[in-house]
Amino acid sequence: MESTAGHARADKLKARLAAMAESEPAGPRVAESPIRLVRAPGRVNLIGEYTDVNEGWVLPAAIDREVWIAFQPWHRPEVELTSLELDQTLSFSFEALTPEHVGARPWIDYIAGTAWAMREAGLPIRGFRGLLTSTIPVGSGLSSSAAVEMAASWALADSQAPRPSPSAMALIAQRAENAYMGVQCGIMDQFASAAGSSGQALLIDCRRNESSLVPIPAELSLVVCDTRAPRDRLDASAYNVRRAECELGARLIGEREPGVRALRDVDVAMFERHRHLLPDNVAQRCEHIVCEDGRVMATVEALRTGDLAALGRLFAASHASLRDLFQVSSKELDILVDIAAGVPGVVASRMTGAGFGGCTVSLVRKGAEDNLVEAVRRDYPARTGLTPLVYVVQAADGAGEMEA
Ligand code: ADP
Ligand code: MG
Repeated sequence: MESTAGHARADKLKARLAAMAESEPAGPRVAESPIRLVRAPGRVNLIGEYTDVNEGWVLPAAIDREVWIAFQPWHRPEVELTSLELDQTLSFSFEALTPEHVGARPWIDYIAGTAWAMREAGLPIRGFRGLLTSTIPVGSGLSSSAAVEMAASWALADSQAPRPSPSAMALIAQRAENAYMGVQCGIMDQFASAAGSSGQALLIDCRRNESSLVPIPAELSLVVCDTRAPRDRLDASAYNVRRAECELGARLIGEREPGVRALRDVDVAMFERHRHLLPDNVAQRCEHIVCEDGRVMATVEALRTGDLAALGRLFAASHASLRDLFQVSSKELDILVDIAAGVPGVVASRMTGAGFGGCTVSLVRKGAEDNLVEAVRRDYPARTGLTPLVYVVQAADGAGEMEA
């Protein structure tokens, strides 16, 4: 389902691309080819934090904040793309795609990396010129990068060739981010952007790369609050330390339990039997992961049955575990959750994403969103000295091409 606002936006973007083509000094280079339009959403994770990198389960939703690309395919093995937000046109050639690099990558490399990963996977790709625009804030934790990659995967694809499944395409885009951009991330972001569905969350099995849709009760909105707390390089190293602690835990337990390859294979009873084998910090991290997988499943059940009280308890337990056991929360995230807890109409609230800053996600009764927006805007700056950003969003469809 596409909104009227979405259609208006699409028409504007296409008109702008058409005007650009006509105003070129050399005349319209690709005027004969029709303008096409693809979109890909950002995402927010409802529950299941750091479980993806332990081959467990996550429960994100694609959201109605999205990246759009209007484009005209052409015969050259090249992409020329203008980002409206950055007011910048960059290009790359398919002949010069290489994952080896030093230093920072420009934004166009998210598209080049996707082209590289598609070609590596044996998919035919085609050049285009186009315009990109987005309503996903950059670096807020709503995964603008995955949305850029997924939109690019639609624009680059040869429309005559069969398209891989959303999960297969997500793996390809993840490879672009991991191997080409050099950014470590699990499969969740690309998967949610590829396979989301309006009004639904997506339960992803991160070992099998399979998903199923879970309806979000129609009475609920999603509200994302960005702490706007500065992040530093420590965060990236802490992320890697957490991953290593989890892997060590899985290995130590696996020495006694032959079926264990990852913490995904450990249930609470098994963990309790072997807790004494683990260094204290490792035991804490493992306890979080093992229980968080259970909370993901319980949240799916609570969404299906509309048990709002259970959602509140599960989100609270997840947040407390990330704060006390996994130790990736921050003062600012805790304050946002504390503010939300006192707001009428807020059903559930927790930190979301890798932590150390970033965002919280709250489930809020429709009509009560402004209560939370106002409470956060009023109380958060006084308690932190920071200005928050708040987004009221709804679960949206995954990436795809818009009908002409
Ligand atoms: P996020 O959490 O939003 O995914 P990342 O740092 O992973 O943050 O990705 C953000 C990057 O994605 C930007 O630095 C830029 O390279 C690219 N990007 C996102 N939105 C746009 C846009 N509208 N135009 C150009 N590049 C974009
Ligand atoms: Mg990103």
